[in-house]
Amino acid sequence: MEICSTINATRAAVRAARQAGKRVGLVPTMGALHEGHLSLVRITKAKSDFVVVSIFVNPLQFGPTEDLAKYPRTFERDRQMLEREGVDLIFAPAPDEMYPTPPATNVNVEGISERLDGVSRPGHFRGVTTVVAKLFHIVAPDIAVFGQKDAAQVAIIKRMVRDSNFPLEIVVGPIVRESDGLAMSSRNAYLNAEQRQQALVLSRALRQIHQSFDKGERSATRLIEAGSAVFREVPNVRVDYVAVVDPDSLEPVAEVNSSVLVAVAAYVGATRLIDNIVLKLSENS
Ligand code: AMP
Repeated sequence: MEICSTINATRAAVRAARQAGKRVGLVPTMGALHEGHLSLVRITKAKSDFVVVSIFVNPLQFGPTEDLAKYPRTFERDRQMLEREGVDLIFAPAPDEMYPTPPATNVNVEGISERLDGVSRPGHFRGVTTVVAKLFHIVAPDIAVFGQKDAAQVAIIKRMVRDSNFPLEIVVGPIVRESDGLAMSSRNAYLNAEQRQQALVLSRALRQIHQSFDKGERSATRLIEAGSAVFREVPNVRVDYVAVVDPDSLEPVAEVNSSVLVAVAAYVGATRLIDNIVLKLSENS
C-alpha cells in the first residue's frame, strides 16, 4: 500500500495504475475510520481494481465554532485498517497541500446545499463539494463511493457530478450501525457513557417513524410528530431537525408517495449526530 501526501505523487501513482488497465475507485474520508468506512472500501474493492482512500480533515467544511481542532486524528490506526483491507493507495495531504492559499474558487451546489444540515451549518456543503471536486480532479477515479449515512451529502455530490460532467460513477453504500442501532460515526468517540445511551434516540425516532409508516401513515407532518415525540422523552438531546424530504432535491414533501428520505439531526450534549432512513411505497400499496 502506497501512502502519498502530495498531489503530484498521487497523480503519478494513479496514472501508472490506469496505464496498467486498472479501474480506479475512490473513497473520500476524514479518517478516524470505523466499520462504516471499511464497508465503503469493500464495495469499492468489489467494483474497481485500484482502491484509493483519501484521509483529509477538510477545514473548509467546518464552521468557526465547530470541532475542527478536536476532530479525531488516528492516522496510524487508519493506515493499519486500510492495509488489512488491501487498499492500494492512501492520499493523506496536509491542509497546505490542498489549500496553499485560501481558495478563491469554490464549488457550490445552489439551493440544495442550504437544506437539512445546510441550515444549521451554513457553508458546510460548499466546503464539502469544493474538496470533493478537488479530490475528483486529483484522483480522477472511475467510481467514487459515499455512505448513505450522509444522505444530504450524497444528493448534493450526485447533483454536482451531473451538473459539472465529472466522468465518474457515484456509488452509495448503506448505513453501518452498532448492534444497538446507533449509526457508526467518527463523532461517536466524543460521547461519554451516558450520552452514548442518549444517542440511541436518533435511531429509535427513525424506527418509530418507520412503524407509523408501516401502519399506513403517509402524512409527513404526522410522521415528523411521531419522531419528535420520541426525542422529547430524552433529556440533554436537542433536536436540530426531523425532516421528510425528496431524496434528490432535499425539498420537504407533504405526503409519502414513492420514496422519501427521513432524516434527523440532534445534539447529544455538544456532539451533533445525524441519521436517516428511506421510506418506499411498494408498487401495490
Ligand atoms: P467521514 O469520514 O465522516 O467524512 O465519512 C467518509 C465517508 O464514510 C462518507 O461517505 C460517509 O457517508 C461514510 N460513512 C460514515 N459513517 C458511515 C456509516 N455508519 N455507514 C456507512 N458509511 C458511512
